[in-house]
Amino acid sequence: MGKVAVAFAAAAVVAACSVAAVMVSRRVKRRRKWRNVVEILKEFEEGCDTPVGRLRQVVDAMAVEMHAGLASEGGSKLKMLLTYVHDLPNGTEKGTYYALHLGGTYFRILRVHLGGERSYLDVQDVERHPIPSHLMNSTSEVVLFNFLAFSLERFIQKEGNESSSQGVKRELAFTFSFPVKHTSISSGVLIKWTKGFEISEMVGKDIAECLQGALNRRGLDIHVSALVNDTVGALSLGYYHDPDTVVAVVFGTGSNACYLERTDAIIKCQGLLTTSGTMVVNMEWGNFWSSHLPRTAYDIDLDAESSNPNDMGFEKMIAGLYLGDIVRRVILRMSQESDIFGPYSSVFSEPYVLRTNAVSAMHEDDTPELQEVARILKDLGVSDVPLKVRKVVVKICDVVTRRAGRLAAAGIAGILKKIGRDGGGGITSGRSRSEVQMQRRTVVAVEGGLYMNYTMFREYMEEALVEILGEEVRQYVVVKAMEDGSSIGSALLVASLHS
Ligand code: ADP
Ligand code: MG
Repeated sequence: MGKVAVAFAAAAVVAACSVAAVMVSRRVKRRRKWRNVVEILKEFEEGCDTPVGRLRQVVDAMAVEMHAGLASEGGSKLKMLLTYVHDLPNGTEKGTYYALHLGGTYFRILRVHLGGERSYLDVQDVERHPIPSHLMNSTSEVVLFNFLAFSLERFIQKEGNESSSQGVKRELAFTFSFPVKHTSISSGVLIKWTKGFEISEMVGKDIAECLQGALNRRGLDIHVSALVNDTVGALSLGYYHDPDTVVAVVFGTGSNACYLERTDAIIKCQGLLTTSGTMVVNMEWGNFWSSHLPRTAYDIDLDAESSNPNDMGFEKMIAGLYLGDIVRRVILRMSQESDIFGPYSSVFSEPYVLRTNAVSAMHEDDTPELQEVARILKDLGVSDVPLKVRKVVVKICDVVTRRAGRLAAAGIAGILKKIGRDGGGGITSGRSRSEVQMQRRTVVAVEGGLYMNYTMFREYMEEALVEILGEEVRQYVVVKAMEDGSSIGSALLVASLHS
C-alpha cells in the first residue's frame, strides 16, 4: 500500500470515528434530554398526587372553612354569601319567564313556559353566544350592559306573536356567575371580578340596577326580578325536579357551589334571617384554600401571572379556564429543557393558547397513533411530534384532570360533611347517634361545560367520591347533571316569586 493510500485510510478511519463520536454524543444528549422530560413529568405527577388520605384532609378543611365563613364576615376565604333565597321552586309555578345568564365564557338568553305541574316545563328558546372578549375588559360597564340589553331586545323581537307574554311586562332572572353581596333577592353589589373579567369601575355597583338601567334606556318593558348566582339557578332546577336536591355545583369556565343551609347555622346574620328555616348560601368555593391542596410550581406561576393573583386558588386547580393553561405550562417547561417538540418554539409561551376543550380532546384520543393529539399540536403550530412525545402530552392532560376531578369530589364531600350527609354525621355538634347513622338520600345538581363535556373529569370525580364516602354512603348521594340548569333554574326561581 502506498503512502497516499495509508494516509487516505487513516483519514477515513478518523472521519468515521468522529462521525461515530458525534452520533454517540448526540444520542447521549438526546437521552439526557429525554431523561429531563421524564424527570419533569415524574416530579409533576408527584406534585399533583391526591391519595384518599389527602382528599379527606381537603374534605375536613372545606367543612371547617364553611363553618368559619358562616360564623363571621371575613372569617374564612369562603365568603359563604347570603342569597335571600329561602324557598325554591316546587313545581306549581305557572307563566312565562325569562333568564339572561352571564357566565365566564358564554351568555345565554332563554324563555320558559310553566303550566303549573312539573311535567309542563317548556324551555322554549335558548340562545347561547360567546361573550365578546372586549366586553370583559372594557373600561366602563355601560358597554357590557348595553350589549346585554341589545341582545335581549333582539331575542324578544324574534318572538313575534308566539309568546304568551305579549303585552305583559316580562319578568327576568339575571343569572350572574360572579361574587355578589346581596341586600335582597333582586339586588346586590359586585364584590370582585373573577375568570379573567376586569371592568374595575363596576366593583361595588348594584348589578341588577345596572341591567335594569340598560333595559330602560332601550325602552324595554322588562323587569329584573331576581339576581341569581349560577349555582343557585342550578339548585333551583334540581329542586324543582327533585326536592332532595340540597347542593349544586358548577364546573364551567370557573367553579362554585351553593347549598341549602339552616338559617340558625348562619351565625353571622343571627336575628336578621327570621322568615324561614333555610336559606341558600353561595359558597364562592373557588376561593377555598387549604395547605392540603397539592400545589405545584406551575400553579404558583399561573396564579402570579393571572389577572387575580392570590385569589380563587381552588378554582385555578379545578375549573375549565385554567386546566388547559396548567398543561401548557408543563409542556412549555419540557420544550425549554429539551427539543422533544422540535426546535424551541414560542407557541407554548402564549398564555391560555391551549384550551381545556383541546385538553379533553387529546386526553380522550383513542386512535392508535394518537392522531387527534398530533392534529391539535399541529393546529397550534407544532408539527411532526413523535408518538412517544404525544403520549407524554396525554399523560400531562391525565395528571391535571385527575387532580381536578378528585379535588372536585373532595369539595362536594366537604359540603356533605358540613350538612351531615357524608355518613359520619358532619361536624355539627349535638347530634344524637341515631341521627348520625341515619343516611338520607341527597341530590347534588351539577352543571357547567367542563362537567358536561369532559368524560374523564367526570369519571375521576365519581371514582374519588366513592373512595372518600365509601360504597354504602355513595349510594345515597345522587349526582345529577343539569344541562343549562343555571339559566333554566333562575327563570324558575323568578316564577316561584310570582306564584
Ligand atoms: P360558562 O362558564 O360561560 O357558564 P360553560 O358552563 O359552558 O360556560 O363552560 C364553558 C367552559 O367549559 C369552557 O370554557 C371550557 O373550559 C369548558 N369546556 C367546554 N367544553 C369542553 C370540553 N369538550 N372539554 C373540556 N372542557 C370543556
Ligand atoms: Mg356557567
